[in-house]
Amino acid sequence: MPPEHPNLVVFDHPLIQHKLSWLRDRHTGYRPFRALVTQIAGLMVYEVTRSFPAVEIDIDSPLEPTRGLRINAKITVVPVLRAGLGMTAGILDVMPEARVGHLGLYRDEETLEPHAYLERLPSDLGAGPVVLVDPMLATGGSASAALGMLRKAGATDLRMICLVAAPEGVERIRRDHPDVTVYTAALDRQLDGRGYILPGLGDAGDRLFGTE
Ligand code: URA
Repeated sequence: MPPEHPNLVVFDHPLIQHKLSWLRDRHTGYRPFRALVTQIAGLMVYEVTRSFPAVEIDIDSPLEPTRGLRINAKITVVPVLRAGLGMTAGILDVMPEARVGHLGLYRDEETLEPHAYLERLPSDLGAGPVVLVDPMLATGGSASAALGMLRKAGATDLRMICLVAAPEGVERIRRDHPDVTVYTAALDRQLDGRGYILPGLGDAGDRLFGTE
């Protein structure tokens, strides 16, 4: 965790950084972009799930009985539409037992304020860990609003996973949701006047879905 951001985990693993460098390249088209986002998210899951509750169990293995660990919680992954869908596919590859809730938020381009247009969540969200997925943590306005919606819906054990974070967004989450750890592949320099991350990778939704 960078000392100035105690709520942040940055993945400095060379494989993740290698893939991220392709995502930042403006010449990377939507098909490889989508595949890379899926792969990075899958790799990040190992660390994000480290604190998930697990219980020891008895196993009837072929040669002799033994013991093992099983995660015994109802996990919910919640992408913020639409860019969060790309990372969610990678998370589900590794953790297919997770449930998926959806939050739709759009950002008013003038005020940069988030507005919710969709909320579809399991009714027992508090039954286990909840992972909010939004690849670009920019101002933190949408992510903070999304975390607030999840709390209101009953979530108590929250964390957030993104690809690229800006210091402004990380600080906003720390201020509004001090118990939430943010996992990211990169902490970038700053935001531009439109709330885009610099250097960042552009509009993650457009680049994922080929809608530039
Ligand atoms: N959303 C994006 O897709 N990119 C940014 O840089 C900021 C917000």
